[in-house]
Amino acid sequence: MLIYRHSFQSKLPEVPTSIFSVMSALAHKENALNLSQGFPDFESDKNLINMVHKAMVNGKNQYAPMPGIFSLRQAISNKMEHLYGVSYNPETEITITAGATQAIFTAIATTVKKDDEVLIFKPAYDCYEPTIQLFGGKAIAVQLDPESFIIDWKLVKSLITDKTRMIIVNTPHNPSGRILTAIDMLQLENILKDTNILLLSDEVYEHIIFDGELHQTAALYPVLAERAFITASFGKTFHNTGWKIGYCLAPKELMAEFRKVHQFNVFSVNHPTQVALAEYLKTPSNYLNLNNFYQQKRDLFLSLIKDTRFEFIPSKGTYFQLLNFKNITDESDYDFAIRLTKEQKIASVPISVFNENGLDTKVLRFCFAKTDETIKKAAEILCNI
Ligand code: PMP
Ligand code: GLN
Repeated sequence: MLIYRHSFQSKLPEVPTSIFSVMSALAHKENALNLSQGFPDFESDKNLINMVHKAMVNGKNQYAPMPGIFSLRQAISNKMEHLYGVSYNPETEITITAGATQAIFTAIATTVKKDDEVLIFKPAYDCYEPTIQLFGGKAIAVQLDPESFIIDWKLVKSLITDKTRMIIVNTPHNPSGRILTAIDMLQLENILKDTNILLLSDEVYEHIIFDGELHQTAALYPVLAERAFITASFGKTFHNTGWKIGYCLAPKELMAEFRKVHQFNVFSVNHPTQVALAEYLKTPSNYLNLNNFYQQKRDLFLSLIKDTRFEFIPSKGTYFQLLNFKNITDESDYDFAIRLTKEQKIASVPISVFNENGLDTKVLRFCFAKTDETIKKAAEILCNI
């Protein structure tokens, strides 16, 4: 084993291994049901898999064009037009990325400079803050109310300074399962109008929204759309998180800068998968049925655990459900999550890791993107706790 003997200063000294890797590895080791990391335990549509196979057989195995294949960008543009009546030019305003993670990374790399401030809402998905830090920026955290997760827009306004470069929002929100309303979006418009502040709107759960609610994309709000990088993930929508394909939407001027970074970040992403997705997106029911599909799973899970000692407010979107365990133990959420995995054979995610200063509100996140059989097994375990 070689030893590195020179001094080296970490760029991310405080950053641990992601909780998703930690909990999934523990679930595997303990042979526990894995409701921690967010991914389905069922297969993607066989037709879609066959389309990828066909693209490979047809020789789509070399580099795709840098911004993504045109037919996929066109299909995304059509979807935005059809669903929201907004126009994104496939030539200049849409780029295919290696999952939403790369879209987020590239959007931040493109825009955030040393000492810039970026407002994020906590609990926050784990990739925002380290990426801001990597480019010399400073994340300014707004801790949300741990029960309602409602945004206090007056507080947000008071945190805006000359250094504020960007605000990052995420709806439907991971991990809380809350969604932003039209009123939230109007408040955000009010704060951003007449400023140069950019918006990163992480909308990876766009098609997983419940109880008839409408997804409030930043694209619908002119003051937001003109400054927004909108990020999306096919992994979430088509049950193939391992393919790592997503995209970014932004106005032409911003997208031109985004692509300057994208070309040296990944250059281009998986070609045969893009060909298949372009074809698959032509059938809107492939994504429009997702709300019902996951709402049934949420309802099954909640109906089976309603008499447990866990407390919950039903998730409004995403495939995550938060459960409060304050009636069960006063252990930390992290310790309880580890103990449940080892002793009860069920893995979840402690949400303190997404909170400011590790705020522990005795809440665990469970992923219900699982077969009904897995959901029933999970509920059985939770009923005995
Ligand atoms: N944003 C949020 C809120 C997420 O939950 C995830 C991951 N599931 C991502 C971004 C990253 O998506 P991808 O797997 O496509 O990189
Ligand atoms: N987004 C997924 C989650 O929230 C995990 C993705 C990852 O492992 N990085 O669980």
